[in-house]
Amino acid sequence: MRRAGILAVEQPVIEIKDLHKAYGALEVLKGVSISAPKGHVISLIGSSGSGKSTLLRCCNLLEDSQQGEIIFKGEPVSWKGEGHHRRPADPAQVLRIRTNLSMVFQQFNLWAHMSILQNVMEAPLTVLRRDRDEVEQAARAYLDKVGIGDKCDVYPAQLSGGQQQRAAIARGLCMEPEALLFDEPTSALDPELEQEVVKVIKDLAAEGRTMIIVTHDMKLAADVSDHVVFLHQGVIEEQGPPETLFGAPKSERLRGFLSATH
Ligand code: ADP
Ligand code: MG
Repeated sequence: MRRAGILAVEQPVIEIKDLHKAYGALEVLKGVSISAPKGHVISLIGSSGSGKSTLLRCCNLLEDSQQGEIIFKGEPVSWKGEGHHRRPADPAQVLRIRTNLSMVFQQFNLWAHMSILQNVMEAPLTVLRRDRDEVEQAARAYLDKVGIGDKCDVYPAQLSGGQQQRAAIARGLCMEPEALLFDEPTSALDPELEQEVVKVIKDLAAEGRTMIIVTHDMKLAADVSDHVVFLHQGVIEEQGPPETLFGAPKSERLRGFLSATH
């Protein structure tokens, strides 16, 4: 387990307080609170349908929520309207939060008609309006970092799943975000390709990146996390350091979940 030491006194990068989220009548998050201090890795685990993806998507405002606070580096999201009509009030704030929390999806979501290099450069150029030469240099460096520096000019379909996911991670990094949000980054991969993505995630954890990782890979969660959160039907059933959560789970449901995933 890593500790960010003195950095932990800073404002958390992202903090969620008592969040409630429903899709119509279906209550999916029923008062969830999590916090990701700078340099920490938080893992979200739980059965399919427990609300993990929804919680992650609420963090960067890809989903609306009806109640509770979302706080980015000490700055609470300002809302207009209430309940099912609640929406973020300030588009500039939404953009700031979204560009600072890069999402990596299970299905990579690369643009098929763009080369790998173009995929990585696209958002820094069009959303952040950064200088093209600088962005290209950074994009090549991030692709090198994830081990596919030789794939700049090929298209996503020419890469393996593991290579595509590493390109998607490079794309996230090229936004220079405050944190990375991963939604089941290895679930779509064959076991032998899973490990190359796991290695990249471990490297990022070791260099002190702030990350929230939804994963079914308990070994990954145990290896990289400072804090693990077990969601059950939209409620945090148990949370704590990985040693405790995996080594001495208290909740019957968590014990059942862990024995089913082995
Ligand atoms: P997890 O990622 O833990 O598998 P999700 O957050 O995807 O869970 O889903 C939680 C619940 O919300 C599930 O019951 C799912 O069917 C429902 N759900 C997710 N997305 C939507 C949506 N866009 N519209 C309606 N229901 C949804
Ligand atoms: Mg999910």
